Amino acid sequence: MNKLLTTALLIFLISGFFPVVSIAQEAGHYTCYRASSPIVTDGILNEPDWARAEWSHDFVDITGDPKLKPGLQTRIKLLWDDENIYIAAELKEPHVWAKVQKKDDVVFQDNDFEIFLDPDGNGTNYYEIEVNALGTIWDLMLTRSYKNGGKPLSDWDLKGLKTGIHIRGSFNDASKPDTSWTVEMALPIAGLMEGKKAGSKPAEGVQWKVNFSRVEWQIDVDNSSCIKKPDPLTGKPLPEQNWVWSPMGEVNMHIPSRWGRLEFSSEAVNAEALKFKNEKQRQVFQVWFWMGAHADWTSKEWDSVLNGFQSAGVHGILTQADPSTLRKLIPIAQKHGIVVEKWFVAMMNNDKDLIKSHPEWFVISREGKSCISDPAYVGYYRFLCPSNPEVIKYIKKRLDEYLDIAGLEGIHLDYIRYPDVILPKALQPVYGIVQDREYPAYDYCYCKVCRDNFQLLTGRDPVSMGHPENDTAWRNFRYRQLNSFIQELSVYCHQEKKSLSAAVFPGPSLSKQLVRQEWDQWPLDAFMPMLYRNFYFGNLDWIRAETAEGVKALHAGNFLYSGLYVPSLTPRELRTAINKSLEGGANGICLFNYEAMSVDHWKALEECLGSSRK
Ligand SMILES: [Zn+2]
Repeated sequence: MNKLLTTALLIFLISGFFPVVSIAQEAGHYTCYRASSPIVTDGILNEPDWARAEWSHDFVDITGDPKLKPGLQTRIKLLWDDENIYIAAELKEPHVWAKVQKKDDVVFQDNDFEIFLDPDGNGTNYYEIEVNALGTIWDLMLTRSYKNGGKPLSDWDLKGLKTGIHIRGSFNDASKPDTSWTVEMALPIAGLMEGKKAGSKPAEGVQWKVNFSRVEWQIDVDNSSCIKKPDPLTGKPLPEQNWVWSPMGEVNMHIPSRWGRLEFSSEAVNAEALKFKNEKQRQVFQVWFWMGAHADWTSKEWDSVLNGFQSAGVHGILTQADPSTLRKLIPIAQKHGIVVEKWFVAMMNNDKDLIKSHPEWFVISREGKSCISDPAYVGYYRFLCPSNPEVIKYIKKRLDEYLDIAGLEGIHLDYIRYPDVILPKALQPVYGIVQDREYPAYDYCYCKVCRDNFQLLTGRDPVSMGHPENDTAWRNFRYRQLNSFIQELSVYCHQEKKSLSAAVFPGPSLSKQLVRQEWDQWPLDAFMPMLYRNFYFGNLDWIRAETAEGVKALHAGNFLYSGLYVPSLTPRELRTAINKSLEGGANGICLFNYEAMSVDHWKALEECLGSSRK
C-alpha cells in the first residue's frame, strides 16, 4: 500500500457527508501558465508575469509528518513558454552560505535547492538538478531509481540551462543576519525532451511528474563562518534536513511515482476575463454555490452574505438550511435577487429510528449483507433502496416539509444513487483497495424487492446468476430503478411548482460505471456534475472534457452547471476551471462550497465575471 496515501486524512465537510482526502497530505499539484513576456534569469523576480504566478504551498518535511514542520519557509512558482520552463524558488535563510564551486560536484554538501523531473512519468531517464547559493549546478540523469538499480549519469548536461541567484543579506558572512535567497532558472524544454515521448511535450493539459526539494544543514556560527553542527556522539555533521514540495512518505526522493504533478496550461498567466463564445452565453452564465445550513446566522448575517453574492454576480444557492431557516433567509435572498434551492440528501440515510423500524428499506450487497451492519468504505455509507415503493413514499413525505415554502425555487438532490460500486480512482488507494471490476462487497442492491422485481421481468434471480456483475440486463435494471425513482420525484416537485436539480457524478459514462446514475435519462431542470478532478487524477482540461460529455448527452435546453471543488483549486486554477467549463458548453458553474472560498478565490471569481463584491 502506498504509504503516502495512507497518511492522507479523511475530513468530513458540512454535515459529515462528503468523504474527501485532505489536500495537505496529497501529492502536490501545480498548474504552470504561460509567460507573456521574456523572463530574465537574474534571481530577481521583478518580471510582471512572476507577480501574476501563484506561489506553491510551503514545503513540508520529506516524510510528510506534520509534526516535523520545517523551521524555514520554502516556496516555488513556475511559468513556461515555447523554449523554457521557468522556475522561481524562494528560500528563507538566516545565514546564506555555500562552498561547492565546481560544476557537477556534490552540491547537496551545501544547503541547496533541487529539482526532479520525469516528463513522461515512466520512472526512467529522469532528471535531477541541484543548485546552491553560489549558483553551482549539479545536473544529472538517472536511468531509473537507485532502488531499481538505476545509475546516476553526471555527464548529462541540460544544455542552455540558465540560473540566477539573488541573496537578501550577506553571503558567507554569519556575523550578519540574512533574510533569504532566491533561485530563478530557465530550463530549456528541448534538452528535457530528448528521447521522451512527443506526447509529453509541454502543451495544454500535459502533466509531468515532478518534485522540488531543499537540503538544509544545521549549522553553528563560528565568528563569521558557518560550520555544520556536529553530532555530539560521532563528531560527524548531523544529517541534513530535507524539505520538499510533495511529501515522499520516507527520506528518499528517488521514488518518482510518489512525486507530484506539474500541469501545463496554454493560458497566459495574466489572462483574467472569461472567454465567452458569444453575448448570449454571457447573459445566461450562472454561478451557484453549495452551502451549509447556518441555522445560527442572524437575518443581518444572511443579508451581508447574500448582498456579497449579488455584488459578485452569483445566481443561486443550494443550501442545507432547515425549513425555519429557509423561511427566514428566502425573503432576504429575494431582495438580492438570489435564487434558493434546498440541498436535499436523498438515498443516504443514517436516521437511527428509521434503521430500527425499517431495516428492509436499506440496500443489500451481493454478499447478502445489509449496509446497516456492513456499510462500505465508511461507517455512514447507508443507502435506501430506490426499488422499494415505501422508500419513495418516505422521501416524498420528507420533501413535503419544503414543498410548501413560499419563494423556494426547488429541490436539489444529493446522494441520489447507489453506494459507489467502484470508487473514484484517486480515492481507491485511500481505502487501500483496487477496484478493477465490480466486487461483491460494494455491489448493491440484492434486497428482496430488487430480486423479486428483476425475476418478474426476466425470470432470473440475480443471486443465482454466476456473474451478475457481467449481466447487462441486471445492470440496466438498476439504472432504471433510479430513473423511475427520479421520474416520480420530478412529477411530485413540479406539481408543487418547484424545480428539481441534482448533484451527479461526472459523465454520464463515469457516473453509470461508478454509482449507476444514468442521469442523461433523468427529467431534471438542472444537472450539477461534480467534476472534482482531484478524485480522478484529472487535469484542468478533464473538466472541459467531462462538461462536454454531459452537455452532449443531455437534450437541448437542459441546464448543466459544472460542479467545481474549490479546495483542490488555487484561485488562478479556479478561473481556468471556469473557462474550461465554458469551453465544454456548460450553462455555468456550481462551486463546492461557499465555506471553502478564500478572499483570493472570491477575487478570482469576480475578475472572471467582471463584478466586484462590496
Ligand atoms: Zn433493493
